[in-house]
Amino acid sequence: MADPKGFLKHTREVAGRRPVEERVGDWDEVYPGGIGRALLPIINVQASRCMDCGIPFCHSGCPLGNIIPEWNDLVWRDDWDGAIERLHATNNFPEFTGRLCPAPCETACVLGINQPAVTIKNIEVSIIDRAYESGFVRPQPPEWLTGKTVAVIGSGPAGLAAAQQLTRAGHTVAVYERADQPGGLLRYGIPEFKMEKKHVERRLDQMRREGTVFRSGVEVGTGKLTGDALKDRFDAVVLAIGSTVARDLPVPGRELGGIHQAMEFLPQANRVALGETVEGQIRADGKHVVIIGGGDTGADCLGTSIRQGAASITQLEIMPQPTEDRPNGQPWPTYPMIYRVSSAHEEGGERVYSVSTKEFLGDEDGNVRALRLVEVSFEDGRLVEHEGTEREIPADLVLFAMGFLGPEQGGLVEQLGLELDERGNIKRDDSYATNVEGVFVAGDAGRGQSLIVWAIAEGRAAAAGVDTFLTGSTQLPAPIPPTARPLVV
Ligand SMILES: Cc1cc2nc3c(=O)[nH]c(=O)nc-3n(C[C@H](O)[C@H](O)[C@H](O)COP(=O)(O)OP(=O)(O)OC[C@H]3O[C@@H](n4cnc5c(N)ncnc54)[C@H](O)[C@@H]3O)c2cc1C
Ligand code: SF4
Repeated sequence: MADPKGFLKHTREVAGRRPVEERVGDWDEVYPGGIGRALLPIINVQASRCMDCGIPFCHSGCPLGNIIPEWNDLVWRDDWDGAIERLHATNNFPEFTGRLCPAPCETACVLGINQPAVTIKNIEVSIIDRAYESGFVRPQPPEWLTGKTVAVIGSGPAGLAAAQQLTRAGHTVAVYERADQPGGLLRYGIPEFKMEKKHVERRLDQMRREGTVFRSGVEVGTGKLTGDALKDRFDAVVLAIGSTVARDLPVPGRELGGIHQAMEFLPQANRVALGETVEGQIRADGKHVVIIGGGDTGADCLGTSIRQGAASITQLEIMPQPTEDRPNGQPWPTYPMIYRVSSAHEEGGERVYSVSTKEFLGDEDGNVRALRLVEVSFEDGRLVEHEGTEREIPADLVLFAMGFLGPEQGGLVEQLGLELDERGNIKRDDSYATNVEGVFVAGDAGRGQSLIVWAIAEGRAAAAGVDTFLTGSTQLPAPIPPTARPLVV
């Protein structure tokens, strides 16, 4: 185990971010020189705080089942090669989760009962960044091919994890992506300041060298590659098409100009941040921006609007402000709903809780100029508006970040005749198989809007289901059945 007295000698320390005034002037990650580098001076000591618990709750808090105490120990001993081997055994893409995961492992950490938890996420990203720097992340092509072919539709974290596992198992895998480049929300949803796209590129390069083939700019279900063509051409199909139908707000004034979904705004901003030109880009410069939705997508809109030079930014949330400590009903080791401050929230903007939008008000040109809201509370689960609290706030760019309702239901889903569950997601059994033979589903398309760590876990598990379907057995690990929810949101 790591230093037996480490947790008594050292307090929790995390990587310091760049000063706000510096980082809002560029799109780079908010850590100086990248988070892995920023952590180097402190990370061995932080790893030494791990108690190597008899029952490591961190492990069950992680949807991937990451073997956290083992790599904490290896980092403390300076065995970085051993640490990346152990980390890659359960997680194909620690550079994504180490930057972007809300770290349910940390809220489940035993040390967190009466002290600040071990900095598991920081240790994870240090291991993978160092592994890349020392050339330890190499392609692992299969030794022999099975002759079986698999199409993976969608190249977000679920599709990429499934594709990498299946390629390494010897199947011939083609990943189809309708966007012009692979990566899913990792590329076009998540802003550069949270994760620079070079990390996606580096992993795609490894996958190509292993033999995975990528076909971008192909929307499966339109054109020649229909559901039937897919089934004819491939021995198995993995659908990893995400949860892309965004929740709308059909109140009066919705049709006004200047009101957009977050996923109309963010992909354009990401492209421009990477040097592309987007004709008619939706921009926040000089505008009063109102973001409806208090979650992570809203925070991404906030950080992006700040960098584009918004005049003011207000983020509205219908729920009350969470408490800073765990609420009574969400004790350790569950993942609690507490007040969290993302890097974007440190940078500016105002957060307003317990409000609902009644109406958008327009100017003579048909563009939004203000938003009328009302204070609300929930009584017996019912939303109650507080009389006399209605007010207008200026708004000339409104961004919806209210979550996603499920995968698109026409096109491919209809062509394949896939059954949906009661929430509108693609139904699957414990091996991630849909009702159509040979067709599997992984990630947000089956689970509903979720997290990168779940998408990777599901991609790995679906790959094990596919491998069994194709060959009768599998050596691939299957972290988790679709119904499991280990200690997590
Ligand atoms: C703005 C934003 C920020 C987020 N930030 C975080 C975060 O910080 N941390 C975190 O853990 N989670 C975050 N999430 C959630 C996380 O990104 C998702 O849970 C995760 O990406 C889901 O992975 P996926 O592979 O299932 O789907 P996606 O990443 O959505 O990928 C699906 C892909 O399928 C493609 N596709 C769909 N239909 C077709 C078709 N017919 N043919 C070809 N291709 C198709 C799409 O173009 C897309 O590229 C965020 C989500 C958003 C929207
Ligand atoms: S629960 Fe925390 S202290 Fe215990 S093994 Fe996991 S990381 Fe270490």
